[in-house]
Amino acid sequence: AKALGRGQHQVFDPVMHTRALQLLQLETDLRRAIQQQEFVVHYQPIVELNHNQLVGFEALVRWHHPQHGLLSPAIFIPVAEETGLITQIGHWVLGEACQQLCKWQQGNLDGPNLSISVNLSARQVAQLDLVKQIDQVLADTQVNPQALKLEITESVIMENPQSASVMFQELRERQIQLSIDDFGTGYSSLSYLHSFPLNILKVDRSFVQRMTDSSEGSGLVPLIINIAHSLGLTVVAEGIETAQQLAQLKALNCDCGQGYLFSKPLTVEQATELIVKTPPW
Ligand code: C2E
Ligand code: CA
Ligand code: CA
Ligand code: CA
Repeated sequence: AKALGRGQHQVFDPVMHTRALQLLQLETDLRRAIQQQEFVVHYQPIVELNHNQLVGFEALVRWHHPQHGLLSPAIFIPVAEETGLITQIGHWVLGEACQQLCKWQQGNLDGPNLSISVNLSARQVAQLDLVKQIDQVLADTQVNPQALKLEITESVIMENPQSASVMFQELRERQIQLSIDDFGTGYSSLSYLHSFPLNILKVDRSFVQRMTDSSEGSGLVPLIINIAHSLGLTVVAEGIETAQQLAQLKALNCDCGQGYLFSKPLTVEQATELIVKTPPW
């Protein structure tokens, strides 16, 4: 009787109950959002540090919620992951981003040199037909595969190394570039990662921020950049916010950067303006 009482207590925990209802509401809202196409993609510039040159954009999804306004992915991506709805959202983002890249390539002088980076979730990587979906999007949008970069976190790889390995090989055959995202935040095993056909390593913002203070771990960025380079990877530093961070990264031969110092994620119109005009940096 005691055990049953305890079990009942857990089921009817008012806090849990409220959270469950909120999640259910969010899931219901997300399903509607997918149907009504309430998502938008914002584009954050990626800059080549040697020449201060715009080389591409990372596509970052937002949700135009009819009641709550523009919602950050941090709020809905976890639920989208949990419910599996991320596969539909992710597919939409990929299509939207490639379509936009195609427009930029056709309409602007600098367009042809730009690349687009798209985040892939664990659920997407687990889809057996993901490569087929990507082929279809590339065919539909006429985007050169070499201009597409797919960002995958370490944990996504480690969750399913076998299927990730097969999939990455197929993507490499198409000359699609693969980035390891948020590097250093997951279970990092560089020797293990070396066995995957990766092209780009993105140093997580937390390391870039610690670089200029004297805390433990401040010396990790030079180490990461050196190892990445010795593995033949291009390094992109995330979350550059200060001129000091930028100067240090340049001195360390970091290849590319991204962060508020250059630009926050932009709307399509703002990003287009940036391509057409000479960027301010
Ligand atoms: P992420 O892939 O690591 O993307 C970088 C995040 O850092 C973005 O947040 C960006 O706005 C933010 N950021 C960039 N520069 C700076 C900076 O200088 N300072 C600070 N404080 N932040 C900076 P955002 O757009 O809120 O996205 C959060 C996360 O949501 C992304 O992290 C990514 O994991 C996920 N996400 C976004 N779009 C998608 C998507 O289409 N599919 C999937 N699966 N995940 C996505
Ligand atoms: Ca990313
Ligand atoms: Ca990242
Ligand atoms: Ca992140």
